[in-house]
Amino acid sequence: MDRLPLFLDLHKRRIAVVGGGSLAARRIETLARAGAEVWLFATAWSDEFEALRGQYHLGDLGERNAFFGFPLAYFAYEAGEEPDSALIARARNSGALVNVADHPRISDFITPSVLDRSPLMVAISTGGDAPLLGRMLKARLETLIPAGYGRLAALAGAGRAALGDKLANHQSRLRFWERIFDGPIAEMVLAGDDAAAHAMLDREIAECRPDGSAADDHPVGEVYLVGAGPGDPDLLTFRAFRLMQKADVVLYDRLVDPAIMDRVRRDAERIYVGKKRSDHALPQEEIGDLMVKLALEGKRVLRLKGGDPFIFGRGGEEIEKLAEKRIPFQVCPGVTAAAGCSSYAGIPLTHRDYAQSCVFVTGHGRDGPIELDWSTLLRPRQTVAVYMGLAHLDFLMKEFLRHGADSALPVAIVENGTRASQIVVTGNVGNIAGKALAAGLRGPTIIIVGEVVGLRDKLNWYVPKSEAAATGESQATASK
Ligand code: SAH
Repeated sequence: MDRLPLFLDLHKRRIAVVGGGSLAARRIETLARAGAEVWLFATAWSDEFEALRGQYHLGDLGERNAFFGFPLAYFAYEAGEEPDSALIARARNSGALVNVADHPRISDFITPSVLDRSPLMVAISTGGDAPLLGRMLKARLETLIPAGYGRLAALAGAGRAALGDKLANHQSRLRFWERIFDGPIAEMVLAGDDAAAHAMLDREIAECRPDGSAADDHPVGEVYLVGAGPGDPDLLTFRAFRLMQKADVVLYDRLVDPAIMDRVRRDAERIYVGKKRSDHALPQEEIGDLMVKLALEGKRVLRLKGGDPFIFGRGGEEIEKLAEKRIPFQVCPGVTAAAGCSSYAGIPLTHRDYAQSCVFVTGHGRDGPIELDWSTLLRPRQTVAVYMGLAHLDFLMKEFLRHGADSALPVAIVENGTRASQIVVTGNVGNIAGKALAAGLRGPTIIIVGEVVGLRDKLNWYVPKSEAAATGESQATASK
């Protein structure tokens, strides 16, 4: 180990920054955030220092003992500027540890790439050899460490003293925290309900056994209602992905893409509660009951739904019982099909020139096509995205016409949006039903009605793998 990582408390300490450009300005900002009393020894003067006024004092390099009393001195030279070795030596001789930006070899300490989830901090160093690599690693960690982890650390900080009084044994305390960090209290913090989490933690501390285990042998599990997006697994949110790794059991249905199921924790039990338009494998009611049963067994239950759970997903109905039974649950949004399909088809749902509003409707009611409020649907400069509309496409388009839509109004149907098998069929209100039939569309599909559909000619960017393969093939055939 060439260097020792440390986390310094700089509150009220005098720290010197030597320089005059944006590098020095950024140093001042960071040091001020860490509570340091920053002294700027300006070798030049960039505008940025004006904005930072009040965050630093001005030092005078002309003074003999300029660096006296500074434990740290930062030299922030701009690119092309040569470090002033005499000045650096002066600082060092006054007792300061020295950092020279971009010159690790002549620095006593180097500044790491920092991932700040205060009070949790991750600092990365490559010993000055490859700072870029450090920054890239930091970017990867950003995606791995939930934003709320700092608050989780703070929660533990708040409970530490009380737990120390209750459990003298170090092993017991470890067991206790392991259980908390892995359980519903931590989830509650990450989902943003700090107050409830603190209350639950106080109760756990008061009630836990001397070995740190829970007073209750059968702790209640929890439920995560998670939107899995329209298909492309890259569209999962960080939170969805994290909860997928935590689950003991997953309830999924037909719309959840297999590529997404591949990313659920390997040893999680999988229960298919599939849903097709008409034959629900398990009625909503029973799905709700099943979740309650599993959670009461102490399991972490993941209810994975296509798209967003609260958009035509009946997610709300499924979790009503959880609230009644006081089972902890959280809802994680997902990219809804209309948003995913429109992006991947190159059709903006709104556009300054063509559509100022967009409505999402379902084309399917309990027992057939739904009664829609046509006066609100047919407003000018509005895009309509229809979910579950394919089965009644012909009827829907006739209704559009009957209520006054122009038969030339553009329509796109996106089947299997965002997936490798995505197909887009475009036409207009007058001819789309015939085109959909000819293309043999089966669903799932989103129907997009509105002038914005025309933008696809310019903005289409996504080449589904199936299409790419087909084009490759025909080119290969053509070149034979
Ligand atoms: N909660 C989901 C919608 C569930 S309703 C969401 O927010 O997306 C099911 C309907 O969603 C399907 O009938 C279809 O209209 C639409 N849908 C879901 N995934 C789709 C996809 N990948 N491509 C096109 N439509 C999709």
